[in-house]
Amino acid sequence: MEMPYRRPQGAPTNPALLCTECSRELNVTEIGLHKKMINRGATRFMCIDCLAKHTGLTCEMLLEKAEQFRKMGCILFK
Ligand SMILES: [Zn+2]
Repeated sequence: MEMPYRRPQGAPTNPALLCTECSRELNVTEIGLHKKMINRGATRFMCIDCLAKHTGLTCEMLLEKAEQFRKMGCILFK
């Protein structure tokens, strides 16, 4: 009898997966971008909005970069 794992509502999310600036939940793209743009060895990450502020780029530019990395086969974006 195995139950499929489901995160209970209101359960705390792993803090490593929250934006260090605004505490928003992060997705794979945002984590990948942070590693590419800021620090490959980072363990805490920023969301795309905070990343944009930090790098002086726009969200669109960052998403374009993510798309480029993905096309190049970067493992961070799989
Ligand atoms: Zn943020």
